[in-house]
Amino acid sequence: MAVMYKSTRSALEPVTASQAILKGLSPDGGLFVPTEIPSLPASLEDLAPLSYRELAYEIMKLYLSDFTEEELKHCINSAYDSKFDDERIAPMKEADGIHYLELFHGATIAFKDMALSILPHLMTTSAAKNDIHNEIVILTATSGDTGKAAMAGFADVPGTKIIVFYPKDGVSNIQEKQMVTQRGDNTYVVAIKGNFDDAQNRVKALFSDKALEQELAAAGIQFSSANSINIGRLVPQIVYYVYAYTTLVREGKIKAGDEINVTVPTGNFGNILAAYYAKGMGLPIKTLVCASNENKVLYDFFADGVYDRRRDFILTTSPSMDILISSNLERLIYQIGGCDPDRNKAFMTALVNDGVYTIGDDMKVGLKDFVGGFASEAENFAGIKALYEKTGYVIDTHTGVANAVARAYREKTGDMTPMVIASTASPFKFGRAVMGAVAPEKVVDDDFALIDALSATAGVKEPFAITDIRTAPVRHNTVVDKDEMEAAVRKILGI
Ligand SMILES: *Cc1c(COP(=O)(O)O)cnc(C)c1O
Repeated sequence: MAVMYKSTRSALEPVTASQAILKGLSPDGGLFVPTEIPSLPASLEDLAPLSYRELAYEIMKLYLSDFTEEELKHCINSAYDSKFDDERIAPMKEADGIHYLELFHGATIAFKDMALSILPHLMTTSAAKNDIHNEIVILTATSGDTGKAAMAGFADVPGTKIIVFYPKDGVSNIQEKQMVTQRGDNTYVVAIKGNFDDAQNRVKALFSDKALEQELAAAGIQFSSANSINIGRLVPQIVYYVYAYTTLVREGKIKAGDEINVTVPTGNFGNILAAYYAKGMGLPIKTLVCASNENKVLYDFFADGVYDRRRDFILTTSPSMDILISSNLERLIYQIGGCDPDRNKAFMTALVNDGVYTIGDDMKVGLKDFVGGFASEAENFAGIKALYEKTGYVIDTHTGVANAVARAYREKTGDMTPMVIASTASPFKFGRAVMGAVAPEKVVDDDFALIDALSATAGVKEPFAITDIRTAPVRHNTVVDKDEMEAAVRKILGI
């Protein structure tokens, strides 16, 4: 049976994959989930020799069941090309007995590139399939990373424009340089005088403005969002877990059929949910280790089944994991609650109204595949330093959280099943914190001097994404007040 997409919050008719990608969120506020988790398309032996692109096609065609072979291959080939600086797309490194799946070889040197490099193509293909000829305008508020990765993905994709708002004083120097130098005639970057919440709230208001929607439609334009709950971001992420497994088989580290464990540094729960789906397809993953930083809502949830966001938000050196509401967890809650939309909706309503919910005892058995762990800042830094001193391999602070948690898990349980860590960012992206952990005496004020020091310490050439921003011309210099965002959008779109 072909996979369709149903909502986690009501019993609406399922929609096709292309419709789910275009809509992003279900009209009832729920997330789209596949009507079934398909089985792996072939034996692990037969999948083992496939290249990343070949494997991506075999896996994604099962989920994107209304895409033709030609359409899907076009999307895959447009995404996983020379934008990646390693032809394996997601190479693996072994260091001190653990396998690091490097998901940071794309344009913005973090794992969001794995999905955001293909999402634009999935979206424009979905629009064409559904006879939608409007120009698709992506609107995003960003605190740094997602906006840049989305722009890199959408740059010069025909039929699209992307407008990114960021808080003028709320991003790092390197992040700001990355944004204002963005290429592509269809990319627009606007700094606002305000904070991230101001930007986010006004973008949400623009999305829900019905009068504006009609005005846009008359001009042949529609808004869309690139956020992480879109199944067009989730499905591409399943691929690399299968690829990690087949890489271990090709390298002779495991035999087809052997079990592995996976540790994922988690924020919004999208990346680890993709691993859970891969396991559901029959990939021999024994345990999914969910690694949190000091914002350990998920650790507490896996311990006692209580999801409680009522706590202080802690700023850490792994900012992409500083999250108190992990939106993609809803898909797991829905599934372990027996795919009952009313039951799931009650939990989500409680989370909004009370800031907390407790799952039923019958649901806890559904969590048996997961183990939660968390690392303090000190444990994270100590782990990064120890790995470097033992092997010379330098990892970033998000990967560092997973590294500390995975090693503590092994120590505590004695479970020495081959371990894969999803390595989510290049150390160059978080160079200041990484150098602080590895060689604090070499930390300097100047960002690029710091990168030179990191490059020398790690024995790794800086990635092109960094070299590029050293000299790339500034292409975007619009700064507006937070209350002028709508005007800025109108000006850009000529309405
Ligand atoms: C987004 C992000 C994460 C968290 O991934 P989720 O899918 O949100 O759980 C971890 N590390 C880095 C570097 C990220 O950018």
